[in-house]
Amino acid sequence: MVKKDICQILNSLSKEYDRGAYPGRSSEGLNPEWECDPFHVLIATILSQRTRDDNTRKASDNLFSKYNSINEIASADPEEIIELVHSAGFPRQKGTAIVECCKVLRDRYDGVVPYETDELISLPMVGRKTAACVRSYAMGIPSICVDTHVHRISNLMGLVKTKNAEETEFALMRITPRDRWSDINRYFVRHGQVVCLPNHPRCERCSVCSMCDYYIKVLKK
Ligand code: SF4
Repeated sequence: MVKKDICQILNSLSKEYDRGAYPGRSSEGLNPEWECDPFHVLIATILSQRTRDDNTRKASDNLFSKYNSINEIASADPEEIIELVHSAGFPRQKGTAIVECCKVLRDRYDGVVPYETDELISLPMVGRKTAACVRSYAMGIPSICVDTHVHRISNLMGLVKTKNAEETEFALMRITPRDRWSDINRYFVRHGQVVCLPNHPRCERCSVCSMCDYYIKVLKK
């Protein structure tokens, strides 16, 4: 097994990809009207659960074009929000959670998204991944947002040996300097979308294959 330095991997990937973006928000200049603020990142990340980026983008565009603040969503008719977010899938679950979430933010936090992980994960449909995404992309707080790409690639490469996203988050924290935590989501997600595709990774195009256990153990054999 080759010795791996996650900073070296992140440095290599940073040469290929831009700075990444939170779920559903294009890093290529589409939908630039959405601010990268805690409100937009929180709602878009809730919408992104169990769906593809293009569906998240459609649902977020629909929602934000009509309701673009915590107060507006908190006072909205939940049925209308459910209709607006339909393209993200699970519309009733997500729409209801988004309205409830905005009500809590309005009533308990004076309309400001809190920054502590424990407070964030107490909101409806907000888990560690969503909390880390908000902290990292919207607040600039070093956090490791572990989505399906980050969990999969970290295990394929042999950086961690974990069964679920939460284990991956803590394992990556142990091997990564804190000031690089946010880079993991930025670069691994792009790598997972472009090269290390689920089910058929394009290892022949991968700039970090010399540091990947899957490539060394499985493919080279
Ligand atoms: S070598 Fe293949 S499996 Fe490993 S990170 Fe690159 S694309 Fe993914």
